[in-house]
Amino acid sequence: MHTMVRSKKDFCMSIDFEFEDNSIKVSGLPLWLDSSSYRSDKSPVRRALNFTSHAHADHIGNHRCIICSPQTLELLKVRQKVEKSITPSWGDPIDIAGAKVTLFPAGHVLGSAQILIEKGGRRICYTGDFRLGKGLTTEECHPVECDVLLMESTYGHPRYQFPERHELLESLEEFVERCFDSSLIPVILGYTLGKAQEAVKALENLGYGVLVHPSIMKICKIYEKLGVSFSNVKIFGSGPIGRRVIVFPPQKSAREKLGIVGEFRTAILTGWSIDSWRKKIFGADEAIPYSDHCDYSQLLETARLSKAKKIYTHHGDAERLALLLQSEGFDAEPLIPSKQQRLF
Ligand SMILES: [Zn+2]
Repeated sequence: MHTMVRSKKDFCMSIDFEFEDNSIKVSGLPLWLDSSSYRSDKSPVRRALNFTSHAHADHIGNHRCIICSPQTLELLKVRQKVEKSITPSWGDPIDIAGAKVTLFPAGHVLGSAQILIEKGGRRICYTGDFRLGKGLTTEECHPVECDVLLMESTYGHPRYQFPERHELLESLEEFVERCFDSSLIPVILGYTLGKAQEAVKALENLGYGVLVHPSIMKICKIYEKLGVSFSNVKIFGSGPIGRRVIVFPPQKSAREKLGIVGEFRTAILTGWSIDSWRKKIFGADEAIPYSDHCDYSQLLETARLSKAKKIYTHHGDAERLALLLQSEGFDAEPLIPSKQQRLF
């Protein structure tokens, strides 16, 4: 029988985390971390208590009770029904079954959180998707000091080194000006939640008016309710385009609406644009490596500044990042389901 096992090890032994149906649970606590709503056999599952790190679709589930930031709760409400929630403020610890649980900003999208769980004298931190520093529309993210760190591995290879944010903004401005110089309408492509709002804010700061897809405007309105203001954004189709920049989701179905605007040129914002072969997949004319995840240097920085004695990697190429961290002197290993758990 064919299996997806690529590691020499059959499974990862961890005293801090357990797997069930490819979802991670904190050992000894009734607390799941970004659990899916589906078991591996595709049947639905509702966790009694789940930490929802942020409101992206691949991190949310229909659970009985969730812990998340107040900002994430507001963003979640437009995507799903939330039955019960616990929404601690940044840095304010709460008690969960005898453990001290605290949320810290993750800098990925507005409201995205890292969770610190302190129990039995051990401090365990799960980053969720994260990016160090301060985005234009996100809270400022710093590494959390802990004993055990569970970190995402999305860009866990040294080839993923992103330019500084100011350089990325320069690339964005150059793209827009090149379009205007050629009488083309500039279209920026970015995911509806997070990337699109960063793009709108960046364009506004550069002095451009912006037109957005209705799904992006919906999220912009929630950001505004949460204190991130947009001064020069209108919904696409509500008036003439003029010398404005369009921000749309990358999905083909959304892009089809652009046919009516005339000649345009697209640039997608994604860290994956470091890989030139991926550009074709996105179907955009250009790509700018503006990411809402850490690049490799930031992942290393987090490993170092967290002072964690043990690091687990997951999400993305966890096995490769763990090997790279080991080569840098860290006690790291991938947190992956056992061979048996992946079969059933
Ligand atoms: Zn995400």
